[in-house]
Amino acid sequence: MAEVMRGMRLGAQSLESDQGVELSSRKSVQFVCPSDHNFEVVFSADAELPDTWECKRCDAIGIRQENGKSISLAASDAEAARTHYDMVLERRSRDELEDLLAEVLADMRKRRSEGRLTA
Ligand SMILES: [Zn+2]
Repeated sequence: MAEVMRGMRLGAQSLESDQGVELSSRKSVQFVCPSDHNFEVVFSADAELPDTWECKRCDAIGIRQENGKSISLAASDAEAARTHYDMVLERRSRDELEDLLAEVLADMRKRRSEGRLTA
């Protein structure tokens, strides 16, 4: 009888220890990429959550999951439709781009004059 009492008491104590799990101010967010890779990114609890995140396995863009399904990306359609050129624009200054363009044009003219480019 004494053995049974002791066992019950230990059990009751361990049930209580589950409280206080959310000690840190972080939360993990699920993303799913087009290849069905599920991955989790941890953010600080007060961070603004991004709608998308680069997949950790294939570098595709994963979409944030909420309540078990992908969030709607309606608001960021414009971003998804960005062209490679847009992204180049963001990364380079205008001066750099003009230099690059001049370089490309010069190369095109050179090749055209050599008869290697038909247009
Ligand atoms: Zn992936």
